[in-house]
Parts: sequence; structure tokens; C-alpha cells
Amino acid sequence: MATSQTQNPLKTPFSQLSIKEHKPWFYKPRHLTITAAHPHLSGRKLRAAVIGGGPAGSSAAETLASGGIETFLFERSPSTAKPCGGAIPLCMIDEFSIPLHLIDRHVTKMKIISPSNIAVDFGSKSLRSHESIPMLRREVLDSFLRARAQSAGAQLIPSLVTSLELPSSPFSPYIINHTTNNSRKTLAVDLIIGADGANSKVAKFIKAGNYTCAIAFQERIRLPDEKMEYYQNLAEMYVGDDVSPDFYAWVFPKCDHVAVGTGTVCAKQDIKLYQRGIKERVRNKIYGGKVIKVEAHPIPEHPRPVRVRGRVALVGDAAGYVTKCSGEGIYFAAKSGRMCGEAIVSASDGGERMIGEDDLKRGYLKEWDQKYVSTYRFLDLLQRVFYGSNVTREALVEICGNEYVQRMTFDSYLYKKLAKGDGWEDLKMVLGTIGSLMRCKIVGREMEAIKF
Ligand SMILES: Cc1cc2nc3c(=O)[nH]c(=O)nc-3n(C[C@H](O)[C@H](O)[C@H](O)COP(=O)(O)OP(=O)(O)OC[C@H]3O[C@@H](n4cnc5c(N)ncnc54)[C@H](O)[C@@H]3O)c2cc1C
Repeated sequence: MATSQTQNPLKTPFSQLSIKEHKPWFYKPRHLTITAAHPHLSGRKLRAAVIGGGPAGSSAAETLASGGIETFLFERSPSTAKPCGGAIPLCMIDEFSIPLHLIDRHVTKMKIISPSNIAVDFGSKSLRSHESIPMLRREVLDSFLRARAQSAGAQLIPSLVTSLELPSSPFSPYIINHTTNNSRKTLAVDLIIGADGANSKVAKFIKAGNYTCAIAFQERIRLPDEKMEYYQNLAEMYVGDDVSPDFYAWVFPKCDHVAVGTGTVCAKQDIKLYQRGIKERVRNKIYGGKVIKVEAHPIPEHPRPVRVRGRVALVGDAAGYVTKCSGEGIYFAAKSGRMCGEAIVSASDGGERMIGEDDLKRGYLKEWDQKYVSTYRFLDLLQRVFYGSNVTREALVEICGNEYVQRMTFDSYLYKKLAKGDGWEDLKMVLGTIGSLMRCKIVGREMEAIKF
């Protein structure tokens, strides 16, 4: 039977609030008395809860704890991991000190395959000798990042956050209601980072508004050895209205199997049809394979209308930081968690002062938008132009054959900077793109005519 240990601290002024701590087995018992009623906290440190222990939450928690803030990291399910392809950009390894032994595969070859099955090699010529796309399992990455946040001083609470109680004044606490093994508990904190993914509860509680989501579906398939050999260092992307009306389908190599999947925004009800489509396209390559896991999850399509309210900030998928066109979100989750944490550490003088909404907006949101808004807009434009019809998808594949386009794409993807181009090559690329679009339109029209 559920036990309840709640009190109503919001009825007590923050300055007199005595919060009885609920004691999971893994942290030391103590009695916390919060005495601050002034922006300068006396006798205690700023207290933060990070909700969600994916890349966004763990990076935020690590940064907060290292910066002197008393940090609690809530994760409802530390032993599992969300469905994900597991591809990360190369720069993440150095920037987030990811040990190389966590990487299952270093992909050095990519193929993009058009609706008419024209395949373009993307990588073998344009990746430099030291470059690759690292692929890992999320269960491995997530537990590593969580453990590192704990080593930095964050307290991991393996518990489901069920609701939040909002403060009644600028300095009174947020109350987090959470449940572990049917036992209900509460924790009072000064601020919250919502890193709880695409179905974020934190976003709902602060009325952050909705975003459009794609649905991604994938099957993990263990292949016979000789078939797995083909995908050793190779990832494939398939485009076509048989595999997705507005996204791409993929075969990504994992440690001892492949992930075969697809996504769509506009036809979610047909996702299984598109999954059959991609499996049909790769039928010979996965023949004899055994499905070991089937998984599906939403992918946000754009940021939420509100990402900061009061002393609550959203990061990662909860904020909506997945790029269009590629569906990439791991790096942006970790980066946004870290940037948000840094903003809090800096605004609170290492946990000595209370912070407010303006600090979060100035130190985190403004910095984030300045750094990444153009990347999101650019990829949004590419998705609109190229994923709309089989004609434009054929053009996309044709353009991907261009070495300069490949180099620019890798520079932007691997290093997370919009690559600086060469003026003359850029002009040639624009003309080439227009040429490809026109050529494919004409070919497309002829193909339509042949059909009738
Ligand atoms: C099929 C698929 C393939 C993808 N492939 C790639 C890829 O190859 N590369 C890439 O970069 N991106 C990929 N993405 C996107 C990427 O997975 C996300 O952008 C990334 O996981 C976001 O990280 P996050 O920390 O913000 O959220 P999440 O990884 O979703 O983490 C949220 C965490 O919060 C926890 N949580 C949620 N609610 C609560 C609660 N109430 N209480 C306590 N804990 C809670 C969850 O258990 C979870 O651990 C893919 C997505 C999908 C669906």
C-alpha cells in the first residue's frame, strides 16, 4: 500500500520552513532547515532538482554540483534507456570527455539511398583519416554520465516525479512530489531543471506549451555474422515515400546488432506501414536477422513556446532541442543541460545567492539562441525543401554525391559549427542544387507520365 509522507510547506513562509527529508537508502540522513528569505543565502547552498537522468539532466546535474550547488538528480528508471540511434558528433567526445571504450562503432561510411534506390557514398571520400561518426548504446552513455554527475556531488534519486507544487512568492520553494516503490515523498528546492524528455511533466506543470512531435519507430535486429560484417562501419539512410512521407529511415550499426527504423510527423498512424517499407528495402541485407527489441518514442520538432518560467528551466528534448532533417538531439541535450547549469552557477555566485527568471533567461536562453538558432533554421529549411516528395528526395541524393557538399555537411555535423564555405564553391553548390532540383523535377514528371 502507498504511504504518504507529505506536508504542505507552501503554507509556511520559506524563512521558517523546516523540511523533513525523506531518506532513500543511498544518502545520509539529515534534517534540513531552510532559513533564507534574501537573495543572499546564509548558512546553506542553493538547492536544485534536475528531473530526468538522460544526457540533458546528467550534464546539468554534473555542472551544478561541480559549481557548488546542492543538486538532486531524479531518474525514474536508471536501469533502462530510451529508444535512440545512438549516433553522436565527434566533437562531443572531447567536449564531454566521453571515454573511447564506450563507443561501439566508429562509422566511417554512410550511404544515402534515393527512392529509386540510387545509393550515394557519403563519407568514404570526404571524411578525414581521424574522423568518424561514433555510435553508442544509450544505456551505456546515460549510466556513465549519471555516475559522473554523482561523482561531482549530485545525489541520484531513482524515483518518479509525479507532480510539482509551485511557489507562492519569489523566494519560496518548489515542492517536488515523487514516488519510489509505492512510497510517496516530497523535496523542497529553490529551482528546477526539467530534463524529462519529450513527454515532459515539468513542461506541463509550468504551462510551457506544446510542440509538434514526430514519432520514431525502430527495431533492433541481430544479424547473422556475414550480414553484420556489411554494417561493420556503415550507416545507411533511406528516403522515399515508401519509408517516410517527411523524414528518413535508417539502418544504424550497434554493438552486436543493427537498429532499423523510421520516423514521421504527418502520418504517425501509418508508422508501422513505413517500418514495413524500410524493412522491405533492406530485405536482403537483414535476411536471417532476429528482432530483439521493438521501440518507439516521440521526437520534438521545434522548441516549446516557453522554456523558462520562474526558477524552472527546460533543457534537451523537454525544451524541444532536436534538429530537423537529421533528428539529432543527444549533443544538444547534453550541451543545453551544461549551459543551463553554467548560467545558474554563475548567477548564484557558486550557489551563494538565490536566482530568478531573468538570470535564467539572460544566462541560458539568450546564449543558447544566439549559438544555435541559425543551425535549427537551416536544417528546418533543408527538411522542407528536400523531404517533401520523391522528386526532391532524388535531388537530395544527387546533391549528396558532391564532395564539397559532403565536406560542408560533415564539418557542420561533426564539429557543431555552421561550416564557413568557400565563395566560389558555395556558388557552384547553389547552382548545382538548382540544377538537381530541376533535373529531378523533369525526370519525376516523366516518371509520373510513364505511370499513367
Ligand atoms: C528512435 C530514435 C532515434 C534517435 N536517434 C538519435 C541519434 O542517433 N542521435 C541523436 O543525437 N539523437 C537521436 N535521437 C534523439 C535523442 O534520443 C534525444 O534527443 C535525446 O535522448 C534527448 O535527451 P534528453 O536527456 O533531453 O531526454 P531523454 O533522453 O528522453 O531523457 C529523459 C530522462 O528523463 C527520465 N524521466 C522522464 N520523466 C520522468 C519523471 N517524471 N521522473 C523521473 N524521471 C523522468 C526518463 O526516464 C529519461 O531517462 C533519437 C530519438 C529517437 C526516438
